[in-house]
Amino acid sequence: MRGERGMHDVVIRGGRVATGGGSVDADLAIRDGKVAALGAGLGPARREIDAAGKLVLPGGVDSHCHIEQLSGAGLMNADTFETATRSALMGGTTTTVSFAAQHPGMRLSTVVADYEALAARGAMTDHAFHIIVSDVSGENLTADLPALMAAGHRSIKLFTVYDKVRVGDAEILDVLWTARAHGGIVCVHAENDGLIRWMVRRLVESGRIAPHHHPISHPRAAEIEALSRMCRFAEFTGQPVMLFHVSCAEGVGVVREARGRGAPIVAETCPHYLFMTAADFASAAVEPAGLMCSPPQRGTADQEALWAGLARGDLDLVSSDHAPYRLDETGKYAHGRDAPFTRMANGMPGLETRLPLLFDAMVTKGRLGLDGFVALTATAPADIFGLAGKGRLLPGCDADVAIWDPTATRTFGTDDLHDGTGYNPFAGRTVTGWPVTVLRRGEVVVEDGALAAAPGSGRRVPMAVSPAMRPQADPPAGRLDP
Ligand SMILES: [Zn+2]
Repeated sequence: MRGERGMHDVVIRGGRVATGGGSVDADLAIRDGKVAALGAGLGPARREIDAAGKLVLPGGVDSHCHIEQLSGAGLMNADTFETATRSALMGGTTTTVSFAAQHPGMRLSTVVADYEALAARGAMTDHAFHIIVSDVSGENLTADLPALMAAGHRSIKLFTVYDKVRVGDAEILDVLWTARAHGGIVCVHAENDGLIRWMVRRLVESGRIAPHHHPISHPRAAEIEALSRMCRFAEFTGQPVMLFHVSCAEGVGVVREARGRGAPIVAETCPHYLFMTAADFASAAVEPAGLMCSPPQRGTADQEALWAGLARGDLDLVSSDHAPYRLDETGKYAHGRDAPFTRMANGMPGLETRLPLLFDAMVTKGRLGLDGFVALTATAPADIFGLAGKGRLLPGCDADVAIWDPTATRTFGTDDLHDGTGYNPFAGRTVTGWPVTVLRRGEVVVEDGALAAAPGSGRRVPMAVSPAMRPQADPPAGRLDP
């Protein structure tokens, strides 16, 4: 085998390796933090790991999670970079893309520097950021954003809902046009703000204010309308858009139709849409407030449509949308236990459960299989967001590895996660398949269920311009005369 002279740092021996482009029975050798070789009988190495009977997979890439972030409602989430990324590693995820959240009045350059400093101090995963743009005034779009994009912050996030961070259609077009000029992707939380407000008002007026009324307040029509609008804006400007957290069957249809027209769209869904429905508010082992998220969980037919969308490639990846708030006065109940759902933070933890839930469904139970699992949870997010060296186990790639025991069975408990929220929204569910050993750039960071990483040991990964970020030539927006 080429490149095999001398001593390796680590050899993972006798497992089945999913490379991100297929699976082979092979040893995997690591040197200087990178995959050095794949093949039979590799060695010698300073450290041998026996992976007989195990699956050797790229570490997960979670391209949508909220960490140490101030929400639009002004509430700090329950995780620091240390607690969130501890949880990520324990669940087999080695790379995270969280948010640098601008609130109106803040300079983008300052916002990103602040979040970079927080991550440098605490993060144990390699990481990148989406820049939340909520204020396009001053030099934010003309100077700060281009400079940040040139420095490898090539993903921007916009909201069409939530008072403090929502931007209007004209501002969305400004951001798309700026991104197009500098090479990047624009991610959108797409729901129709007016439709949700109207539903909220009617629910509140009729006294329907419990957490289980929250899903009713975010009707599927709100999602369908805003997803469609974003697809049209992507086509009009030729600028690629990532549609975050598609939750319903019609949403998959919008993506499919837009792509059929040639619109530059990529899209994701999340485990709480694949594994929960709105009916879970009545039956889950956790308090209903702990299940509130936006868009909300839908129905069983939507779950099947999302799986079909993943199978056909209409949806590109599955992220956690980890949005951690404790079930106490620091989080969900900041305005009291009986506060109306309109005053409760949205979101649930998911960094640690994303991969085990999907592994169980896709590998153990067979939906889309091992290679599909790796593609949707590691390779595709790394490719779309331009995270070079991540999401694959081929020579030259970063040796981010999760070694899975496909026979390990675990039933989730009410408080068994390693993040800062203190609850597990999937409590009571049993999964088969668990990441027992995790390496980040060749260093063992989880072994025998114990963490062995130091806060701040994760590195920022600059985003490169990926094929998914390439704008389309000659879009209608460029033609000012008909
Ligand atoms: Zn989110």
